Amino acid sequence: MTAADSRLLKPALYRVAGTEAAPDRPALLGAACACGYVFFPLQTYGCERCGSRDIQPRALSGSGRLLASARVHRHAGKTRQAPFTVVAVALDDGPIVRTLAVEDEAALAVGQRMRSLLAPVVDPDGAPCFDLRFAREA
Ligand SMILES: [Zn+2]
Repeated sequence: MTAADSRLLKPALYRVAGTEAAPDRPALLGAACACGYVFFPLQTYGCERCGSRDIQPRALSGSGRLLASARVHRHAGKTRQAPFTVVAVALDDGPIVRTLAVEDEAALAVGQRMRSLLAPVVDPDGAPCFDLRFAREA
């Protein structure tokens, strides 16, 4: 089963297809305001910078730089298995996203290039699907 023929856990937030700038990785579904502000995720309440409702959906490249990471060794939630790593990634298209990193033996370093990918997960009902993660750029 591949991501292309399977179900996405959060299809309102990302898609299998990439952007023109990064076609080989899933795009994040954000938006851009007429004032130039780019944000994620898409919402239609108004621009977070100027308040305008002149907002257009925009697919954002799944490429960016690592701003910070935190390894979580214990989690209070019963549905999330620890350990896992939370990362803040500054996307090349502007927004900063906080997401999960693919588990990797190598240490993450602030400033390193990161890329999006779809990882196999299980939804709350136990069905297999794919969810967005970030990993170190190869
Ligand atoms: Zn704006």
